[in-house]
Amino acid sequence: MKLVLFDDFRPGVLDGDAVCPIDELFDLKGAAHPQDRIVEVIVRFPELRPAIEAHVAGGARLPIGEVRLRPPLPRPGKIVCARANYREGSDREPWPMDAFLKSPEAVIGPGDTVVLPERRHDVFHHEAELAVVIGKEASKVPAESVMAHVFGYVGFMDVSARKGIGRPDGASFLGKSYDTFAPLGPAIVTADEVADPHVLQVRYWVNGELRHDYNTSDIEHGVPEFLEFVSSVMTLYPGDVVAMGTNHQQIGPLQHGDHAVLEIDGFGRLEVDVVDPLRRTWARQVDQEIATKVRQSLVVPDASSAP
Ligand code: MN
Repeated sequence: MKLVLFDDFRPGVLDGDAVCPIDELFDLKGAAHPQDRIVEVIVRFPELRPAIEAHVAGGARLPIGEVRLRPPLPRPGKIVCARANYREGSDREPWPMDAFLKSPEAVIGPGDTVVLPERRHDVFHHEAELAVVIGKEASKVPAESVMAHVFGYVGFMDVSARKGIGRPDGASFLGKSYDTFAPLGPAIVTADEVADPHVLQVRYWVNGELRHDYNTSDIEHGVPEFLEFVSSVMTLYPGDVVAMGTNHQQIGPLQHGDHAVLEIDGFGRLEVDVVDPLRRTWARQVDQEIATKVRQSLVVPDASSAP
């Protein structure tokens, strides 16, 4: 099932080219923030699934073109991002697992706009990623059982400003945390629809030109191992997002006027626009310097120079 928030952050099920509202099945009056609405859906989903399915089969439907899709997780409790987590053709020893937090306030949704900050940075990069949506509280959960805590998956763009903020070595999460730097969507795909999260093709276009085109089978630390690791440090809660990292071989710049599209097998398309008040420009191509460095294991990418 594909869960969305639409219009005034109403929960719904995306079914083909239509959205079926499901808000009447839930008591959402206590939801102070739109995020609380989707968390309520996530938490009660196992119990209400049969009712939701019956409702979708017989209920009202709104054509997708007549609604405004919102980010399905408008303000996750936290966004945990894997750092440099793909093999990328290297035969090196696996890097140790590492992660950083990205600001939950950075989330935007389908059709929204990434706004580049006026602060001077070397470049602004796109990173296309598979992200996990947590369904059940998870603290110190071993890999063998942690998948029971996964609610589903979502497409995620880890927009990244390189250098320019924090210490000169660039090792700051702040370049990842500008408002609008976390496009997410279009829907939460429930875990039962993803038999194996490690066989998904991830594609990303900028102005119709294919950039990222990689398979999650190339991942270094897979979902169970990585969630075990993260939950050994911090408790994960329903609606939290854990992004699995990107493949750096097709990273490129984002700049004013760009239209970016992310598509993961079976997830639908997430499209956003990019605006830069300063109209800075970079070569519209894959950044070969970062791709080569990561491929040759010359760097363990840090938070702002390349995860
Ligand atoms: Mn990333």
